[in-house]
Amino acid sequence: MRFFILALAAVLGGGIRKTRRWGQRLERVWIGAFLIGFFLLTGCASLTPLPSPTAIQTRLSSNTETPTAFLPAAPTATERATSTFTPSPTFSPTPTPFPTPVWMGREIPLYTLRADLDFAEHTLEVAEEIIYTNQTGVELEKLVLVVETNRRSDVFHLESIKLNGEEIEPNLEGARLEIPLEPKLLPEEGVIIEITYRLDIPAKPSDEVFGYLSSQINIVNWYPFVAPYTAEKGWLIYAPSGVGEHLVYETSDFDVKLKVSDNLIVAASAEGETADDNWVHYEHKAARAFVFSVGSRLSSQTVASENARVTSYFFPDYEEESAALLEASSKAIDVFSERYAPFPYESLSIVQTELNDGMEYDGLIFVGRKFYDEYDGTIKNNLIMLTVHEVAHQWWFGSVGNDNALEPWVDEAMALYSERIFYETVYPYPVGWWWRFRVYWFKPKGWVNITIYDGYDFRAYTNAVYYRGGLFLEDLRDRIGEKDFNAFLQDYAKSYAGKIATSDDFFMILDRNTNEDYNDLLEEYFK
Ligand SMILES: [Zn+2]
Repeated sequence: MRFFILALAAVLGGGIRKTRRWGQRLERVWIGAFLIGFFLLTGCASLTPLPSPTAIQTRLSSNTETPTAFLPAAPTATERATSTFTPSPTFSPTPTPFPTPVWMGREIPLYTLRADLDFAEHTLEVAEEIIYTNQTGVELEKLVLVVETNRRSDVFHLESIKLNGEEIEPNLEGARLEIPLEPKLLPEEGVIIEITYRLDIPAKPSDEVFGYLSSQINIVNWYPFVAPYTAEKGWLIYAPSGVGEHLVYETSDFDVKLKVSDNLIVAASAEGETADDNWVHYEHKAARAFVFSVGSRLSSQTVASENARVTSYFFPDYEEESAALLEASSKAIDVFSERYAPFPYESLSIVQTELNDGMEYDGLIFVGRKFYDEYDGTIKNNLIMLTVHEVAHQWWFGSVGNDNALEPWVDEAMALYSERIFYETVYPYPVGWWWRFRVYWFKPKGWVNITIYDGYDFRAYTNAVYYRGGLFLEDLRDRIGEKDFNAFLQDYAKSYAGKIATSDDFFMILDRNTNEDYNDLLEEYFK
């Protein structure tokens, strides 16, 4: 074991990327020594990317958890009183060159989050660490982070932010947090960002997920995250619109520890393991986001399907509806795993909440209570249909991402059409009902590829993006035939897993799976 550790440390130490700012032999030797020490300390538990030495020391001395963990410091009365971050008098407004960046060897970002929830007070204390490697292929002179909770006042209270161990001045306006990088971050180079903050969780508006209810708190989009960057569009950070979803997420890894008092039920994007003293540890890999919901009156039921463990969290007296949901969602996971690609995660949580809709995150979906109330004991209702829709988003949104603001049809038309695929496979007789009830009743019109900013109201928006999107996919399937259509679905699900697919990507994959001409369909459905 020790030889392995030494060899590994030597390889890693020697393998640290030599950049214009690296290359000092002494530094590399020092890092090798540091790595040896680190692996001896951690017992070689894992090859987690290495924070800067100072960061590690701080964490080791500040808690009794594993060396890579860090706990949010308990806020003092003074800290609570001063809600906003104020730079110290000696703080320099110009960014100081940060210590040499280290190549972290990560394809995707890693978010390490330690969050302490005070359910009664509606506060969440968070210590966050982001390990970000520049995989954009271009030099970055800044990073743009999305701080969704800062769109409204008095929710997000920044305490400190550090870049590679150095405190920096926050440049935060609304949801946009900019971190200047001086010198620029070259492709393949990485940085570590540490942010501590407190959320004062607001009451939940009826049409949003985030916020507290009398017996439940839903926590989504709760940590600053690096916006995806593309050469064509730059940083993908968008303003909300009256319709649709505006956030775009890069696939990332999440290591989360939550502290919640033990009389509460926690539903999360992944299944947790209780560590110690009410801290529960979650790992959510290759996912768009980590979300959770905490309730004082929630019950749960779990079924293990062939492809995933599915848990339903529900309010008192909804056991029958919960059981129906579990059956449908497990079958949906089996159907989509077969038709598209294996289920991308290990588990799925379905959480009842107060909402006029369903809402997808990867590994966790919310379903509005009103659909439970409408449940009629059959499979021909909104409860089953919407749940299956949100399950389908695990593939179209979760695994295959897209620009939800500018190209919402890319996931929504696919999730809508997945409902049809679910019914035709599991309960074929109501497919006619599904078309009438779900699509034709609305007499849909409009272009499939509108953005969320094109001025449509909710009904006109869903008519165009969802229902006309579903009709387009039905016509496309008729045109190219079952064999090509299935080959396309599988190729697309596989080729764009973990990526952000565009309309062009969709048609590029389609073209390589069929020789049929479908140009007239593009003219009919797309502007
Ligand atoms: Zn949807």
